[in-house]
Amino acid sequence: MEIAIIAHDEKKANMVQFLNKNKELLLKDTINLIATGTTGGKAEEAGFKVIKMLSGPLGGDAQIASRVAEGKTNMVLFFKDPMSSHPHEADINMLIRVCDVHNVPLATNEATAQLLLNAIIL
Ligand code: PGA
Repeated sequence: MEIAIIAHDEKKANMVQFLNKNKELLLKDTINLIATGTTGGKAEEAGFKVIKMLSGPLGGDAQIASRVAEGKTNMVLFFKDPMSSHPHEADINMLIRVCDVHNVPLATNEATAQLLLNAIIL
């Protein structure tokens, strides 16, 4: 199962905490993590193996959307910052739409991300 992680700057610390909290699941061989560039770097620093896409503003969200459309990514955990605007808003909306088109689970906040992970704990 491939899980994509994206965190806006204000949410990166929360995202790392979340990964650590869910380490037991996320470090399993059956889980592949992918992430936008800077988010992936933070996750690597925390000890996770992550395939890094481009940074979000440079097209990373669009790359993840493409993987969702191709059926490669099975879940998207997006730690969105609703309090600031982003130069790549169009890409963010596109990712959300593509998840809806392909019926791929998408969390846009930490509480939902946790519920989604709870649902795949076997
Ligand atoms: P980043 O991108 O992980 O490269 O910061 C996240 C985003 O802004 O979508």
